[in-house]
Amino acid sequence: MCAAVAAEDQDYIVWRDDIAMIGMPHEDISIPFIGFLMPRRHADLSDLEPYEAARMGELMVLLERAVTDVLDVPRVQILRWGDGQEHLHWWVLGRPTGATQLRGTFLSSWEDVLPPRPREEFRADVEVVMRRFVALAGGEIP
Ligand SMILES: [Zn+2]
Repeated sequence: MCAAVAAEDQDYIVWRDDIAMIGMPHEDISIPFIGFLMPRRHADLSDLEPYEAARMGELMVLLERAVTDVLDVPRVQILRWGDGQEHLHWWVLGRPTGATQLRGTFLSSWEDVLPPRPREEFRADVEVVMRRFVALAGGEIP
């Protein structure tokens, strides 16, 4: 993650502002949306300055709004594990409408077993979400 950030990997970083950025998984995914919301500088959760923490909270709200505005997603789940990764990254997962068996903590487990979506399709969805996110939160698509 730190290497992708340092290299400004365009396949990974799909949005950024002065404080934060969003990465997308390098692996293929099965659910409608997965993004990683993280600080631009190398920092874990307890390292954030108050202004960075405030912006991160605002961005979580606006990212859920962007995902639910443009995709067939009624709810976004936000998780943070970070075991073995000291660069804070919030997992932001979109649960598809009607898939009630994917509710709750099962969503990330189902993500591992369902067949992956075509990469181009996921990438196109991410771009639509990021355009909406720029309208809501500012920042830029690199
Ligand atoms: Zn880092």
